[in-house]
Amino acid sequence: MTLALALALLLAAPAAPDTPASAKGSSAKSPARPAVPPAFVVVLDPGHGGEKDGALSVEGRREKDITLQIARLLRKRLEKQGARVVLTRAEDVTVDLPRRAAIANDEEADLFVSLHLNSMPGGPGSSARGIETYFLSADATDASASAVAARENADRPRSDPTDTVGGILEDLEDQANLAESSRLAQAIHGALVRGTRAPDRGVKQAPFHVLAGARMAAVLLELGFVSHPVEGKDLARPARQDAIASSIAAGIAAWRRAGIADASPAAPASPAAPASPAAPAAAMR
Ligand SMILES: [Zn+2]
Repeated sequence: MTLALALALLLAAPAAPDTPASAKGSSAKSPARPAVPPAFVVVLDPGHGGEKDGALSVEGRREKDITLQIARLLRKRLEKQGARVVLTRAEDVTVDLPRRAAIANDEEADLFVSLHLNSMPGGPGSSARGIETYFLSADATDASASAVAARENADRPRSDPTDTVGGILEDLEDQANLAESSRLAQAIHGALVRGTRAPDRGVKQAPFHVLAGARMAAVLLELGFVSHPVEGKDLARPARQDAIASSIAAGIAAWRRAGIADASPAAPASPAAPASPAAPAAAMR
């Protein structure tokens, strides 16, 4: 009876008040639970914001608003996978392009995903639609990729003294990051095309200022054309944004699974991770 009462009191008692907060912190880092997979850190970068609207839809909807909505949905999906998720902006504020990759570096992120919407030069009414996924290169895959990079790089302040090409070439020296970025791009792109049934415009490379300097797997997603009369309208719908977010999350999960499989010596090559990830001529320049 006495023992049971003591036990009940012990269980009902609040956490010992003399336990310092730091002790809690250190116990969380103790190797007591090796079975739990390590948390991974994702930095999501909703394109544009603040003074920078990005591309505009036929109805005048702004890329910066839609990318932020998708980032919020994606954050929830990734947190369910056990990720720690950091947004380069959580509201409608201006964030310089170099700052975005710097946030990912500061957070020691495992991956950096920049979210954008496409727009056909020539403006609303264009017939272009579909999804493109990019990773970094000093040279663009084609003229269309070059135009996309030029549009996304336009946010860069004229006063920015950073040497874009120099930064990109420096970044490309890290071939491990480039191979991981290629694998991540393939995994996310495949999941997006399957999950949204959007036209597949391919995985491409281009010199994006926002990706230069990111010291981890880094991709930039063009999630559809706001300039297309139907797709542009669709991209503002919550159901479409949700399908996009869940597809990206599925792609990231597939990339992580393939990485774990690759780390095992007996594992066969994953279809999501081609044996020779794009080692583009541009990177060898
Ligand atoms: Zn953009």
